Amino acid sequence: MKILLLGKNGQVGWELQRALTPLGELVALDRQGANGLCGDLSNLDGLIATVRQVKPDVIVNAAAYTAVDKAESDQPLAALINAQAPALLAQEAKAIGAWLIHYSTDYVFDGSGDHRWLETAPTAPLSVYGRTKMEGEQGILSSGAMAIVLRTSWVYAARGHNFAKTMLRLAQDRETLSVVADQFGAPTGAELIADVTAHILRRVAGERGDSRLSGVYHLAASGETTWHGFAQLVLTHAQRSGVALKVTADRIAPISTDAYPVPAPRPRNSRLALEKLENTFNLKMPLWEQGVQRMLDEIQQ
Ligand code: NDP
Repeated sequence: MKILLLGKNGQVGWELQRALTPLGELVALDRQGANGLCGDLSNLDGLIATVRQVKPDVIVNAAAYTAVDKAESDQPLAALINAQAPALLAQEAKAIGAWLIHYSTDYVFDGSGDHRWLETAPTAPLSVYGRTKMEGEQGILSSGAMAIVLRTSWVYAARGHNFAKTMLRLAQDRETLSVVADQFGAPTGAELIADVTAHILRRVAGERGDSRLSGVYHLAASGETTWHGFAQLVLTHAQRSGVALKVTADRIAPISTDAYPVPAPRPRNSRLALEKLENTFNLKMPLWEQGVQRMLDEIQQ
């Protein structure tokens, strides 16, 4: 199987480089490209040329405009990368009979209620980022390409900056720490996303692949928490590991979303229903705490 991976150095892209390698020939690109191949999603002509030259069996797109707040004032670029480029990749995939695997977000929902969102629930994004990601989904699904769109939430990874590392740093430096406690979702490890992607790829694009599996799936850890709960787990773990903290887990102040104004509104309810993914691909998603604890062990070594 020949796989073209875009966005190879993002949180998910980095883990995909590991998880996809055993599946066949992997051509992995970042924004800079390599060997004359363009990996820049804002260069649509370059992307077309890349797909036509590589002729992959599967395109995995882990690249995205993910600066949620910046997107509010950078709409054209966010739309180009999150909406136009994925739609174009889908058209190119269709033309050569390749699969497209793409990632989307809980931010396509408006965050109302306290239910778990099904894949079929109406989308109503609150932010530019959410809207451009929704348009990307729509462009892919209407292309007629064989495609899997994996909506995930609250992604973290041991590599690069992430919420857990920020909490660890702030709890060592500051006297007080306030964290939003009224947004609900599941922190999901990039490792888990990459491993599940590899599993799905084997099912859909292997020798006995099945194009009827095309569609949108929710891929997240199971269980739920708030950013405040996430921070508490991080600091509890740090205390147990002997890290000297000025703010301990029980001293993190819970605050409301309204008390922490940011340019892009966030959905309060990001709970994703996982049954479609679990039943279709015979998976059982682990509890969010499991992956976070493992990541903390890694970064504290
Ligand atoms: P990251 O921000 O870690 O990675 C995104 C990657 O895209 C970066 O490597 C970035 O490169 C690259 N990129 C940005 N612009 C371009 C461009 N013009 N051309 C090529 N590459 C580009 O994101 P994640 O790994 O966390 O996200 C993976 C997917 O999951 C995305 O589709 C995202 O929307 C989705 N998602 C993420 C969530 C999260 O909490 N992070 C939550 C829900 C969904 P560079 O470093 O050079 O900018």
